[in-house]
Amino acid sequence: MSDKIYLDHAATTAVRQEVLDAMLPFFTEHFGNPMSVHSFGREVTKAVEASRETIANCLGAEPKEIMFTSSGTEADNWAIRGFAQANSKNGQHIITSSIEHHAVLHTCEQLEKEGFEVTYLPVDSEGFVDPKNLEEAIRPDTILVSIMHANNEIGTIQPIEELGTICRDKKVAFHVDAVQSAGVLPINLKELPVDMLSLSAHKFYGPKGIAALYVKKGTRIKPIIYGGGQERGLRAGTHNHAAIVGMAKALELAISEQEEYAKKITDLRDMLIDGILEKIPHTRLNGPRGDKRLPNNVNVSIQYIEGEGILLHLDMLGIAASSGSACTSGSLDPSHVLLAIGLSHEIAHGSLRLSLGRENTEEEIKRVLEVLPKIVKNLRAMSPLYQG
Ligand SMILES: *Cc1c(COP(=O)(O)O)cnc(C)c1O
Repeated sequence: MSDKIYLDHAATTAVRQEVLDAMLPFFTEHFGNPMSVHSFGREVTKAVEASRETIANCLGAEPKEIMFTSSGTEADNWAIRGFAQANSKNGQHIITSSIEHHAVLHTCEQLEKEGFEVTYLPVDSEGFVDPKNLEEAIRPDTILVSIMHANNEIGTIQPIEELGTICRDKKVAFHVDAVQSAGVLPINLKELPVDMLSLSAHKFYGPKGIAALYVKKGTRIKPIIYGGGQERGLRAGTHNHAAIVGMAKALELAISEQEEYAKKITDLRDMLIDGILEKIPHTRLNGPRGDKRLPNNVNVSIQYIEGEGILLHLDMLGIAASSGSACTSGSLDPSHVLLAIGLSHEIAHGSLRLSLGRENTEEEIKRVLEVLPKIVKNLRAMSPLYQG
Protein backbone atom coordinates (compact mmCIF):
# COMPACT_ATOMS: atom_id res chain seq x y z
CA MET A 1 0.00 0.00 0.00
CA SER A 2 0.90 3.67 -0.03
CA ASP A 3 1.92 5.79 2.93
CA LYS A 4 -1.65 5.58 4.11
CA ILE A 5 -2.21 3.93 7.49
CA TYR A 6 -5.18 1.58 7.86
CA LEU A 7 -6.36 1.18 11.44
CA ASP A 8 -9.89 -0.04 10.84
CA HIS A 9 -9.40 -3.82 10.67
CA ALA A 10 -12.39 -4.44 12.93
CA ALA A 11 -14.55 -3.08 10.09
CA THR A 12 -12.92 -5.17 7.38
CA THR A 13 -9.56 -6.38 6.07
CA ALA A 14 -7.93 -6.69 2.65
CA VAL A 15 -7.88 -10.08 0.95
CA ARG A 16 -4.41 -11.63 1.27
CA GLN A 17 -2.56 -12.38 -1.95
CA GLU A 18 -2.40 -16.12 -1.14
CA VAL A 19 -6.17 -16.09 -0.65
CA LEU A 20 -6.81 -14.30 -3.94
CA ASP A 21 -4.48 -16.73 -5.74
CA ALA A 22 -6.43 -19.67 -4.33
CA MET A 23 -9.74 -18.13 -5.40
CA LEU A 24 -9.01 -16.96 -8.94
CA PRO A 25 -9.29 -20.30 -10.81
CA PHE A 26 -12.75 -20.75 -9.30
CA PHE A 27 -14.16 -17.76 -11.17
CA THR A 28 -13.15 -18.95 -14.61
CA GLU A 29 -11.72 -22.43 -14.99
CA HIS A 30 -13.71 -24.12 -12.21
CA PHE A 31 -17.07 -22.43 -12.54
CA GLY A 32 -19.51 -25.35 -12.32
CA ASN A 33 -22.53 -25.48 -10.06
CA PRO A 34 -21.78 -27.90 -7.23
CA MET A 35 -25.37 -29.16 -7.47
CA SER A 36 -24.83 -30.36 -11.04
CA VAL A 37 -24.07 -34.04 -11.68
CA HIS A 38 -21.51 -33.50 -14.48
CA SER A 39 -17.76 -33.17 -14.07
CA PHE A 40 -17.90 -29.35 -13.97
CA GLY A 41 -20.08 -29.53 -10.90
CA ARG A 42 -18.18 -32.41 -9.31
CA GLU A 43 -14.82 -30.63 -9.27
CA VAL A 44 -16.40 -27.63 -7.57
CA THR A 45 -18.19 -29.85 -5.05
CA LYS A 46 -14.79 -31.31 -4.19
CA ALA A 47 -13.36 -27.85 -3.54
CA VAL A 48 -16.35 -26.78 -1.43
CA GLU A 49 -16.17 -29.92 0.70
CA ALA A 50 -12.38 -29.67 1.08
CA SER A 51 -12.86 -26.07 2.26
CA ARG A 52 -15.54 -27.15 4.72
CA GLU A 53 -13.12 -29.72 6.09
CA THR A 54 -10.30 -27.16 6.40
CA ILE A 55 -12.55 -24.74 8.28
CA ALA A 56 -13.83 -27.53 10.54
CA ASN A 57 -10.24 -28.60 11.33
CA CYS A 58 -9.26 -25.02 12.19
CA LEU A 59 -12.08 -24.85 14.75
CA GLY A 60 -12.05 -28.37 16.16
CA ALA A 61 -15.39 -29.15 14.53
CA GLU A 62 -16.66 -31.83 12.15
CA PRO A 63 -17.17 -30.87 8.49
CA LYS A 64 -20.92 -31.46 8.63
CA GLU A 65 -21.16 -29.01 11.52
CA ILE A 66 -19.99 -26.14 9.27
CA MET A 67 -22.71 -24.32 7.27
CA PHE A 68 -21.85 -21.62 4.75
CA THR A 69 -23.76 -18.32 4.79
CA SER A 70 -23.46 -15.02 2.94
CA SER A 71 -22.23 -12.98 5.92
CA GLY A 72 -21.63 -12.93 9.63
CA THR A 73 -24.90 -11.04 9.84
CA GLU A 74 -26.76 -13.93 8.19
CA ALA A 75 -25.01 -16.46 10.44
CA ASP A 76 -26.14 -14.51 13.54
CA ASN A 77 -29.69 -14.13 12.20
CA TRP A 78 -29.87 -17.81 11.35
CA ALA A 79 -28.47 -19.06 14.67
CA ILE A 80 -30.96 -17.04 16.70
CA ARG A 81 -34.07 -17.11 14.52
CA GLY A 82 -33.49 -20.61 13.17
CA PHE A 83 -32.98 -22.01 16.66
CA ALA A 84 -35.85 -20.04 18.20
CA GLN A 85 -38.28 -21.24 15.55
CA ALA A 86 -37.19 -24.88 15.76
CA ASN A 87 -37.39 -24.99 19.55
CA SER A 88 -40.20 -22.62 20.50
CA LYS A 89 -42.34 -25.39 21.95
CA ASN A 90 -39.71 -25.77 24.71
CA GLY A 91 -39.95 -22.10 25.64
CA GLN A 92 -39.83 -18.64 24.15
CA HIS A 93 -37.20 -16.91 26.26
CA ILE A 94 -33.79 -15.84 24.88
CA ILE A 95 -30.88 -14.22 26.72
CA THR A 96 -28.23 -12.01 25.13
CA SER A 97 -26.08 -9.08 26.24
CA SER A 98 -26.55 -5.35 25.79
CA ILE A 99 -23.26 -5.01 23.84
CA GLU A 100 -23.85 -7.49 21.02
CA HIS A 101 -23.46 -6.56 17.36
CA HIS A 102 -26.66 -5.25 15.76
CA ALA A 103 -26.90 -8.50 13.77
CA VAL A 104 -27.75 -10.15 17.10
CA LEU A 105 -29.57 -7.30 18.84
CA HIS A 106 -31.88 -6.40 15.95
CA THR A 107 -32.71 -10.08 15.37
CA CYS A 108 -33.67 -10.39 19.04
CA GLU A 109 -35.74 -7.21 18.89
CA GLN A 110 -37.61 -8.54 15.87
CA LEU A 111 -38.27 -11.87 17.64
CA GLU A 112 -39.71 -9.89 20.56
CA LYS A 113 -42.25 -8.44 18.16
CA GLU A 114 -43.09 -11.98 17.09
CA GLY A 115 -43.84 -13.15 20.63
CA PHE A 116 -40.48 -14.18 22.08
CA GLU A 117 -39.15 -12.68 25.30
CA VAL A 118 -35.57 -11.44 25.42
CA THR A 119 -33.37 -10.55 28.42
CA TYR A 120 -30.48 -8.17 27.65
CA LEU A 121 -27.77 -8.76 30.27
CA PRO A 122 -25.88 -5.70 31.46
CA VAL A 123 -22.08 -5.53 31.36
CA ASP A 124 -19.61 -4.00 33.80
CA SER A 125 -17.48 -0.91 33.16
CA GLU A 126 -15.02 -2.93 31.06
CA GLY A 127 -17.72 -4.68 29.06
CA PHE A 128 -17.78 -8.07 30.80
CA VAL A 129 -20.92 -10.14 31.25
CA ASP A 130 -21.06 -11.46 34.83
CA PRO A 131 -21.63 -15.25 34.74
CA LYS A 132 -23.70 -14.90 37.93
CA ASN A 133 -26.10 -12.60 36.09
CA LEU A 134 -26.46 -15.18 33.34
CA GLU A 135 -27.16 -17.93 35.83
CA GLU A 136 -29.86 -15.86 37.51
CA ALA A 137 -31.46 -14.85 34.21
CA ILE A 138 -31.99 -18.44 32.99
CA ARG A 139 -35.62 -19.50 33.49
CA PRO A 140 -37.42 -22.79 32.85
CA ASP A 141 -38.63 -21.39 29.51
CA THR A 142 -35.18 -20.12 28.38
CA ILE A 143 -34.11 -21.91 25.20
CA LEU A 144 -31.10 -19.94 23.93
CA VAL A 145 -28.27 -17.71 25.12
CA SER A 146 -26.29 -15.63 22.59
CA ILE A 147 -23.12 -13.91 23.82
CA MET A 148 -20.27 -12.68 21.62
CA HIS A 149 -16.72 -13.95 22.02
CA ALA A 150 -15.01 -10.57 21.60
CA ASN A 151 -16.62 -7.17 21.26
CA ASN A 152 -16.07 -5.35 17.97
CA GLU A 153 -15.92 -1.89 19.53
CA ILE A 154 -14.04 -2.17 22.81
CA GLY A 155 -12.31 -5.55 22.39
CA THR A 156 -13.60 -7.19 25.58
CA ILE A 157 -13.17 -10.99 25.47
CA GLN A 158 -16.03 -12.69 27.30
CA PRO A 159 -15.50 -15.75 29.52
CA ILE A 160 -17.34 -17.93 27.00
CA GLU A 161 -16.15 -21.19 28.52
CA GLU A 162 -17.68 -20.27 31.89
CA LEU A 163 -20.85 -18.85 30.29
CA GLY A 164 -21.22 -21.94 28.10
CA THR A 165 -20.78 -24.26 31.07
CA ILE A 166 -23.67 -22.54 32.82
CA CYS A 167 -25.81 -22.99 29.70
CA ARG A 168 -24.87 -26.63 29.42
CA ASP A 169 -25.68 -27.30 33.10
CA LYS A 170 -29.08 -25.69 32.61
CA LYS A 171 -29.64 -27.45 29.25
CA VAL A 172 -29.93 -24.18 27.33
CA ALA A 173 -28.34 -23.79 23.88
CA PHE A 174 -25.40 -21.37 23.57
CA HIS A 175 -24.61 -19.30 20.45
CA VAL A 176 -21.36 -17.32 20.20
CA ASP A 177 -20.76 -14.50 17.71
CA ALA A 178 -17.04 -15.04 17.08
CA VAL A 179 -16.83 -12.75 14.07
CA GLN A 180 -14.18 -10.52 15.69
CA SER A 181 -12.20 -13.30 17.31
CA ALA A 182 -12.01 -16.02 14.64
CA GLY A 183 -8.48 -16.13 13.29
CA VAL A 184 -7.25 -13.80 16.05
CA LEU A 185 -7.90 -15.90 19.16
CA PRO A 186 -7.67 -19.68 19.38
CA ILE A 187 -11.10 -21.37 19.20
CA ASN A 188 -11.34 -25.09 19.94
CA LEU A 189 -14.91 -26.32 19.65
CA LYS A 190 -13.85 -29.78 20.84
CA GLU A 191 -13.41 -28.26 24.28
CA LEU A 192 -15.72 -25.25 24.36
CA PRO A 193 -19.30 -25.77 25.54
CA VAL A 194 -20.74 -23.99 22.50
CA ASP A 195 -23.65 -25.13 20.29
CA MET A 196 -23.48 -22.54 17.52
CA LEU A 197 -20.74 -20.10 16.48
CA SER A 198 -20.58 -17.43 13.76
CA LEU A 199 -17.48 -16.36 11.84
CA SER A 200 -17.00 -14.15 8.77
CA ALA A 201 -14.14 -14.30 6.24
CA HIS A 202 -13.68 -10.59 5.59
CA LYS A 203 -12.61 -10.01 9.19
CA PHE A 204 -9.61 -12.37 8.78
CA TYR A 205 -8.23 -11.37 5.36
CA GLY A 206 -10.71 -13.42 3.36
CA PRO A 207 -13.29 -12.14 0.89
CA LYS A 208 -16.49 -10.30 1.79
CA GLY A 209 -19.84 -12.01 1.37
CA ILE A 210 -18.87 -15.39 2.80
CA ALA A 211 -19.19 -16.63 6.36
CA ALA A 212 -20.02 -19.75 8.31
CA LEU A 213 -22.20 -20.93 11.13
CA TYR A 214 -21.00 -23.84 13.22
CA VAL A 215 -24.00 -25.91 14.30
CA LYS A 216 -23.11 -28.65 16.76
CA LYS A 217 -24.35 -32.13 15.92
CA GLY A 218 -27.82 -32.64 17.36
CA THR A 219 -28.71 -28.92 17.49
CA ARG A 220 -32.02 -28.36 15.75
CA ILE A 221 -32.41 -25.21 13.66
CA LYS A 222 -34.89 -24.25 10.95
CA PRO A 223 -33.79 -22.68 7.68
CA ILE A 224 -34.35 -18.96 7.20
CA ILE A 225 -33.67 -19.15 3.45
CA TYR A 226 -35.72 -21.57 1.36
CA GLY A 227 -35.11 -22.92 -2.14
CA GLY A 228 -32.74 -25.62 -3.34
CA GLY A 229 -31.22 -28.39 -1.29
CA GLN A 230 -27.83 -26.82 -0.56
CA GLU A 231 -26.30 -27.24 2.90
CA ARG A 232 -28.37 -30.39 3.47
CA GLY A 233 -31.57 -28.49 2.82
CA LEU A 234 -30.90 -26.01 5.60
CA ARG A 235 -29.59 -23.03 3.63
CA ALA A 236 -30.69 -22.70 0.02
CA GLY A 237 -28.78 -20.76 -2.63
CA THR A 238 -25.98 -21.62 -5.06
CA HIS A 239 -22.68 -21.80 -3.21
CA ASN A 240 -20.28 -18.90 -3.67
CA HIS A 241 -17.57 -21.48 -4.16
CA ALA A 242 -14.70 -19.12 -4.99
CA ALA A 243 -15.38 -17.23 -1.77
CA ILE A 244 -15.69 -20.51 0.17
CA VAL A 245 -12.24 -21.57 -1.11
CA GLY A 246 -10.90 -18.13 -0.10
CA MET A 247 -12.42 -18.32 3.37
CA ALA A 248 -10.81 -21.70 4.03
CA LYS A 249 -7.41 -20.47 2.83
CA ALA A 250 -7.67 -17.29 4.92
CA LEU A 251 -8.64 -19.14 8.10
CA GLU A 252 -5.94 -21.77 7.60
CA LEU A 253 -3.29 -19.04 7.23
CA ALA A 254 -4.62 -17.07 10.20
CA ILE A 255 -4.62 -20.12 12.47
CA SER A 256 -1.12 -21.18 11.42
CA GLU A 257 0.19 -17.68 12.23
CA GLN A 258 -2.11 -17.00 15.18
CA GLU A 259 0.35 -17.15 18.08
CA GLU A 260 3.06 -15.12 16.41
CA TYR A 261 0.56 -12.59 15.10
CA ALA A 262 -1.16 -12.12 18.48
CA LYS A 263 2.19 -11.43 20.13
CA LYS A 264 3.27 -8.84 17.56
CA ILE A 265 -0.06 -7.07 17.43
CA THR A 266 -0.46 -6.97 21.23
CA ASP A 267 2.84 -5.11 21.49
CA LEU A 268 1.69 -2.54 18.93
CA ARG A 269 -1.70 -2.25 20.65
CA ASP A 270 -0.14 -1.54 24.04
CA MET A 271 2.30 0.92 22.54
CA LEU A 272 -0.64 2.79 21.03
CA ILE A 273 -2.73 2.69 24.22
CA ASP A 274 0.15 3.79 26.47
CA GLY A 275 1.18 6.51 24.03
CA ILE A 276 -2.32 7.99 23.74
CA LEU A 277 -3.00 7.96 27.49
CA GLU A 278 0.41 9.47 28.18
CA LYS A 279 0.46 12.16 25.49
CA ILE A 280 -3.18 13.29 25.51
CA PRO A 281 -4.69 14.54 28.79
CA HIS A 282 -8.35 13.84 29.67
CA THR A 283 -8.39 10.53 27.85
CA ARG A 284 -9.66 7.14 28.97
CA LEU A 285 -9.32 3.63 27.63
CA ASN A 286 -12.60 1.81 26.95
CA GLY A 287 -12.51 -1.94 27.58
CA PRO A 288 -9.99 -3.93 29.63
CA ARG A 289 -6.22 -4.09 29.44
CA GLY A 290 -4.11 -7.22 29.07
CA ASP A 291 -5.08 -10.61 27.71
CA LYS A 292 -8.83 -10.15 28.18
CA ARG A 293 -8.72 -7.57 25.38
CA LEU A 294 -8.55 -8.40 21.66
CA PRO A 295 -4.87 -8.12 20.68
CA ASN A 296 -5.72 -5.68 17.87
CA ASN A 297 -8.25 -3.34 19.50
CA VAL A 298 -7.74 0.15 20.88
CA ASN A 299 -10.73 2.28 21.91
CA VAL A 300 -10.29 5.57 23.71
CA SER A 301 -12.56 8.41 24.73
CA ILE A 302 -11.00 11.79 24.23
CA GLN A 303 -12.92 14.31 26.28
CA TYR A 304 -14.27 17.67 25.08
CA ILE A 305 -14.26 16.88 21.36
CA GLU A 306 -16.23 14.78 18.87
CA GLY A 307 -14.82 11.51 17.59
CA GLU A 308 -16.06 12.39 14.10
CA GLY A 309 -13.90 15.52 14.07
CA ILE A 310 -10.82 13.50 14.94
CA LEU A 311 -11.66 10.96 12.23
CA LEU A 312 -11.89 13.63 9.54
CA HIS A 313 -8.54 15.12 10.50
CA LEU A 314 -6.89 11.71 10.65
CA ASP A 315 -8.39 10.89 7.25
CA MET A 316 -6.88 14.04 5.75
CA LEU A 317 -3.50 12.68 6.84
CA GLY A 318 -4.24 9.27 5.32
CA ILE A 319 -4.99 7.55 8.63
CA ALA A 320 -8.16 5.44 8.66
CA ALA A 321 -9.86 4.86 12.01
CA SER A 322 -13.41 4.63 13.29
CA SER A 323 -15.52 6.21 15.97
CA GLY A 324 -17.43 3.55 17.83
CA SER A 325 -18.63 1.01 15.29
CA ALA A 326 -18.70 1.29 11.52
CA CYS A 327 -22.46 0.89 11.54
CA THR A 328 -23.05 3.86 13.81
CA SER A 329 -20.46 6.14 12.22
CA GLY A 330 -22.31 8.77 10.30
CA SER A 331 -25.28 8.63 12.63
CA LEU A 332 -25.55 10.82 15.69
CA ASP A 333 -26.58 8.03 18.04
CA PRO A 334 -23.74 7.29 20.41
CA SER A 335 -22.56 3.69 20.43
CA HIS A 336 -24.82 1.34 22.44
CA VAL A 337 -21.66 -0.42 23.64
CA LEU A 338 -20.10 2.72 25.10
CA LEU A 339 -23.38 3.67 26.79
CA ALA A 340 -23.69 0.13 28.20
CA ILE A 341 -20.28 0.38 29.91
CA GLY A 342 -21.52 3.53 31.62
CA LEU A 343 -20.15 6.39 29.51
CA SER A 344 -22.20 9.59 29.25
CA HIS A 345 -23.48 10.56 25.78
CA GLU A 346 -20.92 13.35 25.71
CA ILE A 347 -17.93 11.15 26.44
CA ALA A 348 -19.20 8.37 24.17
CA HIS A 349 -19.29 10.91 21.32
CA GLY A 350 -15.59 11.64 21.80
CA SER A 351 -14.46 8.09 21.24
CA LEU A 352 -12.10 6.65 18.71
CA ARG A 353 -11.48 3.05 17.69
CA LEU A 354 -8.12 2.11 16.20
CA SER A 355 -8.05 -1.55 15.17
CA LEU A 356 -4.76 -3.00 14.05
CA GLY A 357 -3.88 -5.68 11.54
CA ARG A 358 -1.15 -7.75 9.91
CA GLU A 359 0.45 -5.03 7.86
CA ASN A 360 0.73 -2.36 10.58
CA THR A 361 4.24 -1.46 11.73
CA GLU A 362 5.84 0.22 14.70
CA GLU A 363 6.64 3.20 12.47
CA GLU A 364 2.95 3.62 11.70
CA ILE A 365 2.05 3.59 15.39
CA LYS A 366 4.73 6.20 16.06
CA ARG A 367 3.32 8.35 13.29
CA VAL A 368 -0.18 8.15 14.80
CA LEU A 369 1.22 9.04 18.22
CA GLU A 370 2.90 12.03 16.66
CA VAL A 371 -0.12 13.46 14.82
CA LEU A 372 -3.03 12.51 17.10
CA PRO A 373 -2.04 14.71 20.07
CA LYS A 374 -1.73 17.70 17.70
CA ILE A 375 -5.15 17.07 16.16
CA VAL A 376 -6.71 16.80 19.61
CA LYS A 377 -4.98 19.97 20.79
CA ASN A 378 -6.23 21.94 17.80
CA LEU A 379 -9.80 20.63 18.08
CA ARG A 380 -9.88 21.32 21.80
CA ALA A 381 -8.67 24.86 21.23
CA MET A 382 -11.84 25.41 19.18
CA SER A 383 -14.12 23.51 21.55
CA PRO A 384 -16.47 25.54 23.75
CA LEU A 385 -16.45 22.57 26.15
CA TYR A 386 -12.73 22.78 26.81
CA GLN A 387 -11.33 25.27 29.29
CA GLY A 388 -7.65 24.26 29.04
C1 LIG B 1 -18.53 -7.60 11.43
C2 LIG B 1 -19.32 -8.25 12.51
C3 LIG B 1 -20.54 -8.91 12.25
C4 LIG B 1 -21.16 -8.90 10.87
O1 LIG B 1 -20.44 -9.66 9.95
P1 LIG B 1 -20.63 -9.36 8.37
O2 LIG B 1 -19.94 -10.48 7.69
O3 LIG B 1 -19.95 -8.03 8.13
O4 LIG B 1 -22.09 -9.29 8.11
C5 LIG B 1 -21.19 -9.54 13.28
N1 LIG B 1 -20.69 -9.54 14.52
C6 LIG B 1 -19.52 -8.94 14.84
C7 LIG B 1 -19.00 -8.99 16.23
C8 LIG B 1 -18.81 -8.26 13.84
O5 LIG B 1 -17.67 -7.65 14.14
